[in-house]
Amino acid sequence: MADPDSGGPAAAAGLQTTSSDATKPPVTELNLILLGPPGAGKGTQAERLTQDFGLPYIATGDILRKAVADGTELGRRAKQYMDAGELVPDDVIIGVILEALDTEEAKDGFLLDGYPRTVPQAEALDEALKKVGRQLTAVLLLDVPDEEVERRLSGRRVSRSGRVYHIEFDPPKHPGRCDIDGSPLIQRDDDKPETIRKRLKVYHEQTEPLIDYYEERGLLRRFDGTRSPTEVHDHIRATVATLRLEDEL
Ligand code: ADP
Ligand code: ADP
Repeated sequence: MADPDSGGPAAAAGLQTTSSDATKPPVTELNLILLGPPGAGKGTQAERLTQDFGLPYIATGDILRKAVADGTELGRRAKQYMDAGELVPDDVIIGVILEALDTEEAKDGFLLDGYPRTVPQAEALDEALKKVGRQLTAVLLLDVPDEEVERRLSGRRVSRSGRVYHIEFDPPKHPGRCDIDGSPLIQRDDDKPETIRKRLKVYHEQTEPLIDYYEERGLLRRFDGTRSPTEVHDHIRATVATLRLEDEL
């Protein structure tokens, strides 16, 4: 969550900025995307990165799961696709993301997780940012092989508030209970073996082309997602801080 007193993303990252107008803090945008297969650790890293950089976190999976739980029209349209491990159609999800970005909270930066997942989604995002004179800062790719994805997703458990655990790699202090609010941990419906395999197939066919898309635009930064959560976080944090400095020089 962005803290209005934090001085913005650059200050949160401990970066120096200059401004000709001393009364107005300089705006240094960090517009970031987390890319990678399901289970790569995007949500796990996002929790840490939003704190580091004071960025609002926009996760399309979370938005859609909430819509399903609330029984909204969006949830009704999305549910069948999510249960089957397929992607929600582009026209539905593009509207969702444009709305999420067109907010006061996201105007100085954002961290997207789970969007874009297709080339048309990436194009729609580019167009929307261009219209308001903004652009992406970087796309952070978490590389994790399929076998590891299957291990991670089959052991993933989530709390009511969306905090993520793993029965083996990141267990809660008390089995089956969230460390923070004590709520029971559940397994997501789409974290069952058959749906996991389907989601991986969908990732390779529809989302992986985005790696070339962003590489061609000079935005892609790769990270070895098989390292520990702390190591992955250290690498990403250092890279993002360097990017900001380069941008200001
Ligand atoms: P994504 O958001 O990419 O789907 P998650 O952050 O939900 O991925 O992580 C998937 C599962 O893997 C969770 O159970 C999480 O606790 C675990 N996990 C995340 N990062 C790592 C890591 N670096 N090493 C081992 N397990 C991890
Ligand atoms: P994970 O990172 O574990 O794959 P998410 O929580 O990001 O899962 O997404 C869960 C499901 O929500 C996806 O399998 C898909 O059905 C739907 N979804 C999320 N984001 C998008 C998107 N950008 N485009 C289409 N469908 C999406």
